[in-house]
Amino acid sequence: MSLRPIMLTRPPVEIMINEGFWDELIEAGFRDVCVSWMTFLNEVEGGEPLPSHEEARPRVLSFFDNKCGTYEYIPVISPDNELYDGLNLLPPHRSNEYDSLFKDLYSAFEQAKSKGMNLYLFDDKSYFEEVGYPANEDGSRGFRCWNDPEVADYLISRTRDYSNQLPMFSGIVLDGPDYKWEIAPGERDDLFAEQCDCRHCVNAAHEMGLDLLEMIGALDSFKLELQQLDDERVEGFLLTTRGFLGAVDWWLSHPDLLNLLRFKYSTIEDHLERVYEGIKKYLPEYQVMASSRTPSYISLTGHALPRRVGYTDFQLPKLYLWAGNQPGFRYTVKNYVDTISAWNPNLSKKNVVALTERILGIEFPEDYPVERFNDPAPSSFYKEIAGDEMKKMIHLVKDPDKLIPFIALEHFGGPQIEPREVRDLLTSLEESGISRYIFFHYGVITDPVWDVLTEFTE
Ligand SMILES: [Zn+2]
Repeated sequence: MSLRPIMLTRPPVEIMINEGFWDELIEAGFRDVCVSWMTFLNEVEGGEPLPSHEEARPRVLSFFDNKCGTYEYIPVISPDNELYDGLNLLPPHRSNEYDSLFKDLYSAFEQAKSKGMNLYLFDDKSYFEEVGYPANEDGSRGFRCWNDPEVADYLISRTRDYSNQLPMFSGIVLDGPDYKWEIAPGERDDLFAEQCDCRHCVNAAHEMGLDLLEMIGALDSFKLELQQLDDERVEGFLLTTRGFLGAVDWWLSHPDLLNLLRFKYSTIEDHLERVYEGIKKYLPEYQVMASSRTPSYISLTGHALPRRVGYTDFQLPKLYLWAGNQPGFRYTVKNYVDTISAWNPNLSKKNVVALTERILGIEFPEDYPVERFNDPAPSSFYKEIAGDEMKKMIHLVKDPDKLIPFIALEHFGGPQIEPREVRDLLTSLEESGISRYIFFHYGVITDPVWDVLTEFTE
C-alpha cells in the first residue's frame, strides 16, 4: 500500500503539545499535517458546545475531560499589525496571557519538524463570519465577498504573519471560495439563492461587459424552467443533447446563463491568482494548495481545474461522498433527483433520473440506484462513480501527483461512511494512480477507520 496522506486537524491544537500526538501519526504513516484552525480553546459561558458528538479520538476527548463544555476560540498568534497596514480588515487580537502556551505549541511544532513532519497552514478564511476571521473597523464580522480584493490581500498578510511566527510551516491549504452548486431549496449551497450582488461583484461583471442583475434574472428563469418540465420536453432534451454538439443550441438559447458561468470562472480565477501570486511574492517556497468541489459539478462553483494549474501548486478536489447531509456528493445528487421530482410531480421517475445523470455526467451503478443512496454504498459505487470522478480530475489536472483529494466521513454530525467504504474509496484512489489525499479530520477517526487509513499508508 502506498498512499501518502495529509492529516487535517481541528481544535484543540493543545493536544499537539503532547509528544505522543506526533508519534501516533508517524507510527500510522502520516508525515504531513495541516492545522485547521490555528486556535486554542478557552472554556467560557455561552461559547460553542464542544466536543462535537462525532469526535472519537481518545486524545481529543481527554482534552475535554470526556465531558461537554462551551468554549471560545483564541487565535494562536498575536498579530503583527504592521503587516495589515492599509487594510480595512483587521486580524483578531490575542492577549499576552497565552504567550507561554504559544511557546509550548511552537516547541511542539519544532519537534514535529525534527521528526520529519511537514506542516501546513489552513487558510484563515476571510470571507465568512467565523472565529479568527477579520473584523471590519467597527468590530463587526460578517460575510466578506471574495470579489473584494481586500479579502485576498488580508489572506496574503495573514499567511505572512503565520509564516514569520511559525517558520516551520511550509505551505497553506486554501479552502474555497466556491459559488454554489445545490438545487434543493433551503440548502446551504443552493445555487438559486443569494447570488452576491455587492458593488465588487457588479464591478467585476461590468469589467467583463456583463450585467450582473441580468445574469441573476436568467438564473431565476432557469429555475422556473426546471419547475415546468414534462416527459416530452425531457425526452426531447435527452435525445438532442446525446451528442457533444447537441448542447450548443441549448446554451446559445441561454446566453445569460453562459455569461454567469464565465463570470464565476473569471472572478474565482482573479481571487485565487491574486492570493497565489501575493503569497509567492513573499514566500516563493511556500506550497499553495487549493480546494475545489468534485468534477461533476465543479463548473457551477466557478473553478476550472485545468486553468488552476497556473496558480496553485496542488489541487485538492473534495471527494466528499457521503449521503445524509451537505456537502456530500450522494446527498447533492439525491437532492437533484428529489428536487426535480418535487417540482415536476408528473415527470416519470425514469426521466428524472436520466436528466440528473445527463446534467451531472454520472451513471448510477445498476446495483445502487439513487433511491438507495442513504444506505451504505457498495464497492461498485466507489469503483465506478467515485472512480470516474478521480479519472476526470486526473484528465483535467494532467498530473496525478498534483492531486490531493479531500476525503471525509461526513460533516456536521450526519451519518458517516463506514470503515469498509473508506477501504473501497482508498482502493479506488490507489488504482486511479492518485497517491495522496487529505483527511478531514483527525478528531472524528474511530479505531476501525484509523486501521483502514494505516493499511494504505506507505
Ligand atoms: Zn459580491
